[in-house]
Amino acid sequence: MTLAWTSKKLHLLLKHRTPRLLGLFHVSKLSISMNHAWRRHLTCPGITHIDPVLTMSTRLNPPFRAEHIGSLLRPAKLVAKRFEFETGACSAEELKAVEDESIPAIVKLQREAGMKTITDGEMRRAAFYQGMFEKLGGMEIVPNCSLTTFKSYIPYVGIFHAMGLTEYSSIYCNGKIKRTEGVHTDDFKYLKSLVSSEVEHIKVTICGPTWMHLRHGSDHTYDKSVYTNDAQYFADLIQAYREEIKELYSLGCRNVQFDDPTFCFFCSDSMITGMEQAGVDHEALLRMYIDVFNDITKSRPADLTMGVHMCRGNFKGMHYTAGGYARISETLFKRMDVDCFYLEFDDDRSGDLMPLRYLPPNKTAVLGLITTKRGTLESIANLRVRVEEAAEIISQGDPKRPKSDAMNQLCLSPQCGFASVFEGNPISEEEERKKLELVVEAAKQIWQSFP
Ligand SMILES: [Zn+2]
Repeated sequence: MTLAWTSKKLHLLLKHRTPRLLGLFHVSKLSISMNHAWRRHLTCPGITHIDPVLTMSTRLNPPFRAEHIGSLLRPAKLVAKRFEFETGACSAEELKAVEDESIPAIVKLQREAGMKTITDGEMRRAAFYQGMFEKLGGMEIVPNCSLTTFKSYIPYVGIFHAMGLTEYSSIYCNGKIKRTEGVHTDDFKYLKSLVSSEVEHIKVTICGPTWMHLRHGSDHTYDKSVYTNDAQYFADLIQAYREEIKELYSLGCRNVQFDDPTFCFFCSDSMITGMEQAGVDHEALLRMYIDVFNDITKSRPADLTMGVHMCRGNFKGMHYTAGGYARISETLFKRMDVDCFYLEFDDDRSGDLMPLRYLPPNKTAVLGLITTKRGTLESIANLRVRVEEAAEIISQGDPKRPKSDAMNQLCLSPQCGFASVFEGNPISEEEERKKLELVVEAAKQIWQSFP
């Protein structure tokens, strides 16, 4: 077996592979002669790079070394049009026309910054969580939902109360959940029409399935005459998610990222205290939420990358909560069946990197070391120190692994989107561009130079 044949064959094999699939291939079974770098790639299930002519910084499939979380600043014209729409001053068709003309420019921005991952910047959403819940049959939008039905221990609900709010928009399940139409499929088709050969690089962001349940609990999430318990509610919700993802996949989607701050809320001491005071078994709830995800992701196609982003809030540059991942990391990293975790680590509110020691060898952590909350650029030297610190910690995990393997389980990104709500974070479009370029350049330097 020649090296050239092996390279070509493996390239073909891995064209549609995932880290899980890669775990099936071992150097010993291939019986080929490889240098140390090749062995490293093939023996670590989380590795996505095996072609020796490529550099260490190259990954063939998502998540890529340089990632971003999805939402991008809306152009001023779209922000203005969205404000009009929200106040009833323009139609959905008029809004859509501005969204349509905004997305090509946002694709261009990502390409020019050197990003492989392409999203539509969530140009069609007022907030990151829009989509799944509103569009499913059985769900009702409640514009003025009483805050008494919101769990007061949730970090952002506490802020609502402090602001004097008594009601807030929400979604109530008043009928049997059924996916009667595509949720993000039309958005995907439009984006696909713009990117041609980069369809595999498109990432679709979807609100996590726990969003409404954490907010309203078992008592105010669904009508008890429809579902008598959480298991029944989630069974139908899971089915709807699976149908949506299946259709996205059939359209060519190969990368899905769930956005679910829920999990980071479990890192908050104040939320845990509030749950205990309310008699909520937070450990059981966390496990149930992870199991819900696992029922959605199980049996996914081998070439579909699925990850989950979790953060402590990103509302116009503000966060809702703080607390390191230590409280949830072992359960989450080991138990949740996803390919990658998009984690924020841009300042002290996310704690230290030690929880990464629980990252199993077949999963990837995308380190959100670059903040989107301020325009100030991080130094590549400092980013390198933190990435290598993360790799060192992972290398000492269970099982222990070479630091080089741990490096290959890591990627780099901003800590959250640039506009989780349509008004965006308080940074300029030029600063956003520089941040994206920084992620790309830092990833290139850090992984290229790593021995
Ligand atoms: Zn976020």
